[in-house]
Amino acid sequence: RKGNAIITGASSGLGLATAKALAETGKWNVIMACRNFLKAEKAAKAAGIAKENYTVMHLDLASLESVHQFVDTFRRSGMPLDVLVCNAAVYLPTAKEPTFTAEGFELSVGTNHLGHFLLSRLLLDELKKTEYPQKRLIIVGSITGNTNTLAGNVPPKANLGDLRGLAGGLNGLGSSSMIDGGDFDGAKAYKDSKVCNMLTMQEFHRRYHEETGITFASLYPGCIAETGLFREHVPLFRILFPPFQKYITKGYVSEEEAGKRLAQVVSDPSLSKSGVYWSWNKSSSSFENQLSKEASDEEKARKLWEVSEKLVGLA
Ligand code: NDP
Repeated sequence: RKGNAIITGASSGLGLATAKALAETGKWNVIMACRNFLKAEKAAKAAGIAKENYTVMHLDLASLESVHQFVDTFRRSGMPLDVLVCNAAVYLPTAKEPTFTAEGFELSVGTNHLGHFLLSRLLLDELKKTEYPQKRLIIVGSITGNTNTLAGNVPPKANLGDLRGLAGGLNGLGSSSMIDGGDFDGAKAYKDSKVCNMLTMQEFHRRYHEETGITFASLYPGCIAETGLFREHVPLFRILFPPFQKYITKGYVSEEEAGKRLAQVVSDPSLSKSGVYWSWNKSSSSFENQLSKEASDEEKARKLWEVSEKLVGLA
């Protein structure tokens, strides 16, 4: 049978390119888990993904209720789950004030981390059940949360501190809307959320890899300067960013190439090692990359896991 892979945020950018790359092999049914059903259907058609290779299911990660509903719908479909890709994200670099999810969490961390945290915890049982030989849970990371790289040192830097804002509910009411308890900064909130993504992947690996055989992985696919991620940025930034990445930092990668990279992490038998943060060198070969000190801090990963469990109602 074909493999079943859920990809969140598959209605544009990296998620869509990955859905296309997997569907084209004819070996995958891609479940596009998207907040805008019509946009996802249109995107799949426009990308030329054949009908028999994808299914769109509604998922809004900015609502825990919607995450529960998605999981119910998926279970009722009777499809086995072989791979889950947590890809969706929002980036709000110019926001002056925080905005919030349905449950009142700051939107970037609420969507990128907490929504995905609940989703992957609820779907872990489905992954455990499948007979598929290579079951994987992939959480898309980023270099921007990685302070051991040049790009990761562009201010404002990611820093989760002692998680006091997160522990306080991240709601901007009684507590701060930032994980470290500081003042709201949209660019930093995104980077913090990506550090959470990478810490979560490693904590999953430590807790569940041996027992379940599931491969847990994260990756930095390269700088995909033309995706919708930068839609909230100022116009001049959006004009200058792609050539800057192409010619100055040389970190630029097309959506198509980035999609092929993530598709490798989904299905390539040689990328089956668990607990790895994959990156690609200039000749597009994958290698196991190092994470920054904070993004590989085991104690912080454990604490993040426990605080997140409380916030999403699992503990
Ligand atoms: P896009 O903005 O193109 O894609 C993000 C996707 O997330 C969209 O499909 C969007 O849906 C979806 N999304 C946003 N909010 C929600 C929500 N509440 N519920 C469900 N889906 C949601 O950006 P990219 O393709 O660039 O980003 C994909 C991943 O790649 C992210 O994890 C990002 O951090 C990572 N990444 C990107 C890099 C880059 O240079 N672009 C570099 C490194 C990592 P909709 O279509 O409805 O807006």
